[in-house]
Amino acid sequence: LADRRGRPGGRLVEALAQAASETLSGPEAWAPEIARRFGLPAAAGLGPASFYADLATGHGRRHVRVCTATACFAAQGNRHLPEIERALGIESGEPTPEASVQPVRCLGYCYAGPACLDGATPCSGPSVAEQVAGRVRPYAPPIPVADVTGEPVVLAGIVAGQPAWRSWVETVGRRTPEQIASQVAVSGLRGRGGAGFPVAGKWAAAGRSPDTVVVANGDEGDPGSYADRLLMEEDPGRVLEGLALACLACGARRGVVLVRSEYPRALARMRAALAQAYEDGHLGTRVHGSDVDLDVEVVSGAGSYVSGEETALIAGLEGGRGCARARPPYPTGKGLWDAPTVVNNVETLAAVPWIVRHGGHAYARRGTPSETGTKLVCLSERFARPGCYEVELGTPLRRIVTELGGGLRDGARLAVLQVGGPLGGFLPEDELDVPLSEAALGRLGAALGHAGLVAVDHRPAPEDVLRHVWGFAAAESCGACSPCRVGSRRGLELATAGGPPGEAYARMLELMSRASLCAFGRRVPAAVRSLARAYGDRLRGWGG
Ligand code: SF4
Repeated sequence: LADRRGRPGGRLVEALAQAASETLSGPEAWAPEIARRFGLPAAAGLGPASFYADLATGHGRRHVRVCTATACFAAQGNRHLPEIERALGIESGEPTPEASVQPVRCLGYCYAGPACLDGATPCSGPSVAEQVAGRVRPYAPPIPVADVTGEPVVLAGIVAGQPAWRSWVETVGRRTPEQIASQVAVSGLRGRGGAGFPVAGKWAAAGRSPDTVVVANGDEGDPGSYADRLLMEEDPGRVLEGLALACLACGARRGVVLVRSEYPRALARMRAALAQAYEDGHLGTRVHGSDVDLDVEVVSGAGSYVSGEETALIAGLEGGRGCARARPPYPTGKGLWDAPTVVNNVETLAAVPWIVRHGGHAYARRGTPSETGTKLVCLSERFARPGCYEVELGTPLRRIVTELGGGLRDGARLAVLQVGGPLGGFLPEDELDVPLSEAALGRLGAALGHAGLVAVDHRPAPEDVLRHVWGFAAAESCGACSPCRVGSRRGLELATAGGPPGEAYARMLELMSRASLCAFGRRVPAAVRSLARAYGDRLRGWGG
């Protein structure tokens, strides 16, 4: 398929990533030569190499990625970054042959931040810089997991509870694609990655063609959420099983799992689970004696928030810059290498085996009538009991915050709660009775997103939180459209300058929300408005 458009696909990005990991120089020194080896013009190498954070950053022999996303910011105002720089004797962006530091957003240790990855070794907590300096042993606790009762469970109580591949073995060669799709339609399952699109509807839109590709989107970039990391690390077989069932329902013979590069352990575990799946005969040709042929590959991302958006993800898999593009055409009609492509989030796919085995009606009995089932909710380090909890959709946020999370640690009071990552929104303490659902949060100007909950106490100044939000937007805008590219940088400039933002600011927010190409630029103004509303007079004028 890649050859159809003469594109080298992921192999080019892999080669660029390998080169980037071995050099202090910027991409202009090595990317053109790598592109030439693939028979491509220099721009085909320079484009992705200058776009993805991992490729554009010079690497010393020791490369430390430091999380500066919202949960780590809320933990201690990101002062761990200069502390780590001091521990290594270097600054970000100024690599030496011995070491380099790369600020990233986010590493998925939001329950234990601040965090960094020293090579592939995670370090976390208040002593993170001491760990990097070698004075304290590197430490990163496993993700605490519980169900809605607060009791620890093996993993995601409602949608789990069965060994990986059981549904697949019971289904392949015995049930038709239509039967799988109809159970998922009855379940009412919606995408869990943020967009909330009905899963069965997306599958149907792709038609049932052997050309179809199904992509498991493990590019969980929303700061505050680590649910996909949990699933890919602790239950990778179930993620692959959900992908296989989705492929079967779509008539697809090819699946791809995209794992973000900030999750090296998840990448390793997904690859090990994939090898095991082939060994056990769950994948390959004539699977379990049926007429089903199915191949899956696991691909690494290269460091970009927007690359989680499905058109950007496809562009990245094709070897290009991970920029979003206008729709239509939708990926279900014209996606990866022009083939019909279904992109489903990892958590979405992980729910499918349970639905197929227990029936769509059983799943639909959970949640609310319009938003069925359960959601993995991630609580940040500021909570007394941070961790990943599985709750029914519709559960009041206050119950999650107080009963499951135990309120804030050390008796601190909540200033604002970020819901659903940087594109979700912020709520003040007196609005926590809202049910956890897209519809209810939408009425408050917020969004469910990936359902990460980041508590911000009263230590950070509201202006610093505002600057953090605009800083995230400016750093992660893919730059493909001007309202977002220019607006996010202007927002950061104004927030950095301080003082009242002026009249043009309100028009800029309006333009961003109306004219941006993808949900990123359209949602940033809503998140900023919700922050201004949550802080009230303390951020007067910043809601536009
Ligand atoms: Fe890229 Fe932002 Fe435009 Fe989306 S809205 S395409 S992230 S520049």
